[in-house]
This record gives sequence, C-alpha cells and structure tokens, in this order.
Amino acid sequence: MTRDPECIFCKIVAGEIPCFKIYEDDATLAFLDINPTHPGHALAIAKAHFANVYEISDEAIAATVQTAGRVARAVKATVAPEGLNLLQCNGPAAAQSVDHFHMHIMPRAVDDKLTMNWDLVPGDMAEIGALAERIKSNMA
Ligand code: AMP
Ligand code: ZN
Repeated sequence: MTRDPECIFCKIVAGEIPCFKIYEDDATLAFLDINPTHPGHALAIAKAHFANVYEISDEAIAATVQTAGRVARAVKATVAPEGLNLLQCNGPAAAQSVDHFHMHIMPRAVDDKLTMNWDLVPGDMAEIGALAERIKSNMA
C-alpha cells in the first residue's frame, strides 16, 4: 500500500496518531473531523496514499465513495441533519489542506451560510469522541 511518511492521514492509517474512528475496512477508514463545520462532520479516506482525485486509482475511489455513503447514512441516523453534503477538494483554490484523498461527509442546517471554502475551527474533542461512538453504533 502506498504511503507518504510526512502525511498526517497516512499516520492516522498507521495508528501513529489518534483519530475518532467510525469505520474501517481493508481499503478505507472513516473518522470524525477535528475541525467540524457541524456535529457529525466526518471524513472517509482511502488507506493508501493518493494525493487527490487525479492520482487515485479507480478501485480506491470506488471504495472510498462506498464508505462515504455508509458513513452518511450513520451520520443521518445519529444527528438527523436538515441536509448533508459529500464534498471532495483538490488543490489550493478548492481549499484542500490535506494532500491525501478524502471525502467530507458534512451535515448541514438550513441557512447555515456555510460556503465551499470554510475556516478550520477546532471542535470540542470530548464531544467529537462521544459522537464518534454514537455514529459507530449506527454503522450498518
Ligand atoms: P481538506 O481541506 O478538504 O483537505 O480537508 C482536510 C480536513 O482534515 C479538514 O477539515 C481538517 O479539519 C481535517 N483534519 C486535519 N487533521 C485531522 C486529524 N488529525 N483528525 C481529523 N481531522 C483532521
Ligand atoms: Zn497519506
């Protein structure tokens, strides 16, 4: 499996830094974003290191989208958002901050004024950890 030793998400995959894990299979991992735009903001990533949509293999992107769909259903069951976006960013103008392919699962609220490029604001880690457990219990 390809890995970049400097990549923060590769370090999460390797268990070298912690995450609020929701789901894992052979090809993908899902965990909560530590700068959530809303409670339940999650990330689905390929375990192998691919920097972006231009580089990822067909197999890995298919697996990651499948995991994103499963996480979206568990997030919906847990936080009952008024809406939810799946989002994937490539390059600086798209506000990609981690160069390891990932999909955002983003709960939304009506009139939340969230734009496509948002500021990273740290969340409450205890709340994120508790929510990760609840979403995990709703993973089918
Ligand atoms: P992007 O801007 O699409 O590259 O999104 C990267 C996301 O990764 C941001 O929303 C960050 O808040 C999130 N992030 C960065 N480091 C971590 C981490 N250690 N655990 C969870 N989420 C992270
Ligand atoms: Zn990586």
